[in-house]
Amino acid sequence: MKQPANIQKLEEVLRSSNSAGAGFMGTDRRNISEIIDGDIVELAELKIAVEQIVGRMKEITDAAVPALGCWVQAGRKLEAKAEEVKGQVSCPWPDSAKFAKRVTYVRNPESGQSMKWSDLNIHLIEKHNFFEGRGAMFRIEPKELVKMLFERSAEK
Ligand SMILES: [Zn+2]
Repeated sequence: MKQPANIQKLEEVLRSSNSAGAGFMGTDRRNISEIIDGDIVELAELKIAVEQIVGRMKEITDAAVPALGCWVQAGRKLEAKAEEVKGQVSCPWPDSAKFAKRVTYVRNPESGQSMKWSDLNIHLIEKHNFFEGRGAMFRIEPKELVKMLFERSAEK
């Protein structure tokens, strides 16, 4: 798939990025448009909108932040913990939005499922529909995320 020049440039940045997150593309050989399209299709199949996902992620992070470093209840079955280190990380897109280096850990003790996301992840999903490439340290599988956020059973 041929991509516009600006997207091509962005992709070079994402693949070479060795700062926070050690690369957004991971080992994914697909280009950015293919990664984004693939995840959007998956969300459509799950009948979930990006806004719903982002809204729930923010709720959980907001619940965890005041108790920084400690697990808190963040939903019927979910527990969350936020951790933060000094410094900021920038969005690789031209908007250059800046975020605290904060990671939210989420777990569902009943199902055993656990996952994590950074504040940058939330922005990337919200503004760019980008869940990162497979193999990236902060790649989020939409199916896993939806299951976690909405406490869905395994089959869905
Ligand atoms: Zn951005």
